[in-house]
Amino acid sequence: MEIQSFNPPRRILMGPGPTDVPPRVLAALSRPTIGHLDPLFVKMMDELKSLLKYTFQTSSDYTMAVSAPGSAGMEACFVNLVEPGEKVIVCRNGVFGERMRENVMRCGGETIIVDDPWGRAVTPEKLEAALKAHPDTKIVAFVHAETSTGALSDAKTLCAIAKKYGCLTIVDTVTSLGGVEVQVDGWQMDAVYSGSQKCLSCVPGLSPVTFGKAAVEKIKQRKSPVQSWFLDQSLVMSYWSGEGKRAYHHTAPVNALYALHEALLLVQQETLEHVWLRHKTQHLNLRAGLEELGFEFIVPESERLPQLNTVYIPEGKDDVAVRSFLLQNYNLEIGAGLGAFAGKAWRIGLMGYGARNENVAVCLHALAKALKN
Ligand SMILES: *Cc1c(COP(=O)(O)O)cnc(C)c1O
Repeated sequence: MEIQSFNPPRRILMGPGPTDVPPRVLAALSRPTIGHLDPLFVKMMDELKSLLKYTFQTSSDYTMAVSAPGSAGMEACFVNLVEPGEKVIVCRNGVFGERMRENVMRCGGETIIVDDPWGRAVTPEKLEAALKAHPDTKIVAFVHAETSTGALSDAKTLCAIAKKYGCLTIVDTVTSLGGVEVQVDGWQMDAVYSGSQKCLSCVPGLSPVTFGKAAVEKIKQRKSPVQSWFLDQSLVMSYWSGEGKRAYHHTAPVNALYALHEALLLVQQETLEHVWLRHKTQHLNLRAGLEELGFEFIVPESERLPQLNTVYIPEGKDDVAVRSFLLQNYNLEIGAGLGAFAGKAWRIGLMGYGARNENVAVCLHALAKALKN
């Protein structure tokens, strides 16, 4: 074997995720593995649940982490809530909105698409028009922070419109949670999923999810069983919520959950308000430097995500050559463009632990060198 023991270099991760994992979280990950039904582990999971409730700003006990990445959290929401034949409106303004459409299709639902251009937020008026045209719609799904483009949609307004028409909402907060304000209860979100490796700065592989009362009610009243055994939340909940009678469903990723507990403790200790402010401040620092270097942002200012900055690749610069220069000379990873933006844009992440002065400084310095190269 060429690799006798894998020792990756310490990169600076400033792409769309995974992000830099703080030392405290990496240390938690390497602690002794114990049984997933061990009383001490169960106690840690109960705490992890309250930390997730704080981070999501919800009082729902149907809050947990799916033992798989963000895409599994997405799928968990769709397979549990969408029954065959039901109409679902999907707001699509990037790659992840399209992935939602795929999910509805595979659940046997009927999708109504509300399209917005790449790089723009979802237009609330378009959603309302679609709801008027399709009054039998059961669910509205949208992506709060579109990581493929860097656009932030107004989740509060979109959920309020969905509620007005009696719909449940499925909201993707994979990139927004821990980066910008998310108020699950306050904004009347029904089924919400996120990811461990973006603004929460944990290792990849876990997907926090939360279901409100109306969503739980709908799951309980399903006529057909959820087609996925692994993601059937009524089964998983007996593992996450059965106080004193926790039953085996699957073997939890024990060490990864230590890491998520630690990552969320960091959020709680800093407070959400400060976390949101820090992302905003570092975004403004980065923006100032990028504009000085002549970069142009893709997303209009009022719809921009602080934690994911998409800029056009300057004329005459080679996408791959610049990104390899950054990786080889500065151990710095920035994101390539995705989908319609492939080869046209870079995505510079300032997520979680990465939203710091040091990262902004290194990134600006390295980009300046790369552009002169
Ligand atoms: C990253 C991401 C996902 C998918 O998460 P994975 O952990 O890669 O499966 C879904 N939605 C959005 C908005 C994302 O940024």
